[in-house]
This record gives sequence, structure tokens and C-alpha cells, in this order.
Amino acid sequence: MTQQFAIGVDLGGTTVKTALIDAHGSIVAQSKLPTRAQENPAAVLEQIVHSINDVMLKAPGKKIAGIGVAAAGIIQNPGGIVKSPPNFKGWDVVPLGTELEKKFNVRVEVDNDANVAAVAEAKFGAGTAYPNFLFIIWGTGVGGGVIMNGKIYQGPYGGAGEVGHISIDYKGLPCNCGGTGCIEAYIGQRYLSKRTIERITSTAGSKIVEYAGGDPTNIEPIHISRAAEAGDPLAKEVLTEAGTLLGVALAGVMNTLDFRVTIIGGGVSAVGDFVYDAIQASTVKNVQKPLREGIRIIRAKLGNDAGVLGAAGMVL
Ligand SMILES: [Zn+2]
Repeated sequence: MTQQFAIGVDLGGTTVKTALIDAHGSIVAQSKLPTRAQENPAAVLEQIVHSINDVMLKAPGKKIAGIGVAAAGIIQNPGGIVKSPPNFKGWDVVPLGTELEKKFNVRVEVDNDANVAAVAEAKFGAGTAYPNFLFIIWGTGVGGGVIMNGKIYQGPYGGAGEVGHISIDYKGLPCNCGGTGCIEAYIGQRYLSKRTIERITSTAGSKIVEYAGGDPTNIEPIHISRAAEAGDPLAKEVLTEAGTLLGVALAGVMNTLDFRVTIIGGGVSAVGDFVYDAIQASTVKNVQKPLREGIRIIRAKLGNDAGVLGAAGMVL
């Protein structure tokens, strides 16, 4: 059997990362170009095309199964229509998938970052043994992707997996989406930092403040995480609570989908094992009894390459 290859494009606001990937998820060739998002959609498309040609030149003679693209914003399929990605100038509605299909005459799939990262874990990462799992991207916000029967479940309107906007309290904190009590409004990076700052009674002796360079307004989850590892009680308390709250939202999904496994990636997912224990305990506590057996909360395996790997994984 001839070896299959695919191209994965990770379209970020500043960089277009493109890679040629083999069927085992190894990167054969790659390219990084500025996105030119501050110009117009035509300029961005030109950069994508350029980067794809780049990797094909670096690894000539490879049979390409297709091209996958990870993009921000709302993606409508079929057609890979990318709507209003944040930080892209003049970009309203662009049929990116169709445009690339015309240019390269191969199958093209476009999906949002969280769904693509979920596919990456399913094909090449922590999810290879699980045909059904929920993927969470815990970073600035809380995103998600549903892997069902080994495939991403996009939903009839492309909006499935928005776990971050599950409400855990109808009288709770306001969320950017307009909702109330969304889990993202408690544990998304910015909110988590803000909640921590509010609870610091004295900056003197606080390891969190120390790791943030002495300025509480600079506190980020990484500082809280480091402080927790160094034994700071408030840091431990805040992160344990975040894990417990996340578990409440996850239990809702487990109850709905009859799933057992959640894989967590994203910037904040590097927190210590005690946070995973808190998520696990809270999920188990909040699902119906018959679903408790086998509940597992797992760390994602793929880091920065999840975008290109998952994008290529969509067409491999
Ligand atoms: Zn929300």
C-alpha cells in the first residue's frame, strides 16, 4: 500500500503553520508564514496557498489525500465557510474550503480550532484508544469538541461541543456570550486570574504574586499553578475549585452523551495532577450512579502541533 500523506494548515491570527503529515502523524515537512490578517481575506488566502506550495516543494512526489484547515471563528460546512474570525480584518464570510479545493483539486476540510485539536487527539494523541470522548481546550476560554464513533461531531449547524457555555449557575457570573453562569466565566484564563486576585488579602508572602513578578495584576494561571506546586494554599484552593466547577459541567455532558472519557488540552491544562483529581471527583459525584464506573479525565498529549496534526487528520 502506498503511504498516504495529508496537509494540515493551522490558520492563526499572526502565523499560518502548515505541515505535510504521514498516516502515523509524523511531520514530514513544515512551513511558517505571517498570516497578513490585517490586510484582507485575499492576502490571507495567498499566504495559505504559498505555505501549502512551500511544504509540497520541501517533500516532493508525495501523494496528498487532501488538505485540512484549523481556523478560528464560526465554520459552516459543507464548503468550509469561515465567518468573522476574530482579529482578521475585512473578513466577513469566506468560503475557504471551496477556494482551496479550486486551487489544489483535492479534498479540503475546514473546522474550528477546538474540533481540530479533538481530531488530533483522537487520531494521534491521548484519544487513540477511545472512540467516544469529550475534548476540552482550557485556555483563554473553554472550548470543546465531541468525538463520536471516532469522528468529530459537528452538529447539524456546526456549533456542537461548546462546553464552555454550559451554565453551572443560573444566578451566576455574566459571560461574554451573553449568558449567565457559563463555566468559562469561572475558569477561563482571564476569569481565573481575576478571581484569584480578588481573593489575595495580602501580597506579602503570596507565592502567586511572587511568581507574577510582584504585580498582582500580572497574575496568570501559570503563576497560580507554580504557586500551588510550591505549597501556596490559596493557589491550591483556587485551582481545586476550578477543577470542581469544571467537573459539574463535564458531568452534564457525560449524562447527556453517555460518555466516560474527557481529554483536556489548552494552556491551562498543564496544571498539577491535583486539579485533574478534583475534576475527576467532581465529575463522578455529579453524574448519575450507573455512569460513574470508568469516568476518566486525561491530559491531552499533543501540544502546539495539535492544530496541523488535527487538520491533516481530518482528511487522512
Ligand atoms: Zn457563555
